[in-house]
Amino acid sequence: MAKIRYQFNKETLSYDKIEISFRKKALNWLTRIGTSILWGAVIAVIAFTYIDSPKEATLKEENAQLLAEYNILNKELDELSEVITALEHRDDNMYRVIFESDPIDPSIRQGGIGGSDRYAILREMNNSELLISTNEKLDRLTKAAYIQSKSFDEIEVMVKNKIDMLASIPAILPVSLKDKKVHKSSGFGYRIHPIYKTRKFHAGVDFSGPIGTPIYATGNGKVIKVGTDSGYGKHVIIDHGYSYKTHYAHMSAYTVKRGQKVKRGEIIGFLGNSGRSTGPHCHYEVLKNDIAVNPINYFFNDLTPDEYEKLVNSVDEAGQSLD
Ligand SMILES: [Zn+2]
Repeated sequence: MAKIRYQFNKETLSYDKIEISFRKKALNWLTRIGTSILWGAVIAVIAFTYIDSPKEATLKEENAQLLAEYNILNKELDELSEVITALEHRDDNMYRVIFESDPIDPSIRQGGIGGSDRYAILREMNNSELLISTNEKLDRLTKAAYIQSKSFDEIEVMVKNKIDMLASIPAILPVSLKDKKVHKSSGFGYRIHPIYKTRKFHAGVDFSGPIGTPIYATGNGKVIKVGTDSGYGKHVIIDHGYSYKTHYAHMSAYTVKRGQKVKRGEIIGFLGNSGRSTGPHCHYEVLKNDIAVNPINYFFNDLTPDEYEKLVNSVDEAGQSLD
């Protein structure tokens, strides 16, 4: 039913009935609804823009906390990086120097990390700079720690080799000077030969003593020769590895066989007067790369500094060797 409205007519001085059509009323209503929706939308936009929902507020708080934690992580990675750098420095400048090994090539330590752009996905994110720098640091540290641990494995092998080397290189006297009857009678170098009476090169050190005095292996090694000849008499040669050999001559007897492994201090035979010799003694040679070197430099293990000095300065008997 159409709503009846009246309008005052100034000319007739009466109220005229105005009938509003349905179309006009509908238009009227639509305008009102439209205006309400528009206002509602404006209010909603303002609310969404400036007022957070409780969920949004929580997320924002969490986000801020994560960001703070990321910053702390970043700083901790910097500190760890310093620790690793110190380890690398010690490795290159101490451990590897001790073991006479080259430092690790810096290009290996600083080598790149695979992938053309492993951080592409992070570039899209907020705070991408912080995320990328943290991830880069973590990747670098992981790689540095891996290389360092590999290096320590190598050093462990070097330590074992060094221990083996130190046990192998001749380092003690072949006879014990604690027995007062045993003494150094001739040194290394040019001596008057006791038989030929000419100056000849004496390639070892002679120790005089009673026949049967024990002769010891001066380092760990393998017996490569046990034999008798007219010059050295009964003699033994030990290969110690690391380019060292030792030679023990004029023995009265030996207790080892060719191919036998011996330890430093193990008895290999007994002092004698076999071969070309003018008196019971042990002729002892140290060979490095098959060249005779002065054995006096290889007695450092069982002598005190005083004893060593006395031995070095002891005067050869009559300036001649015993063989
Ligand atoms: Zn000699």
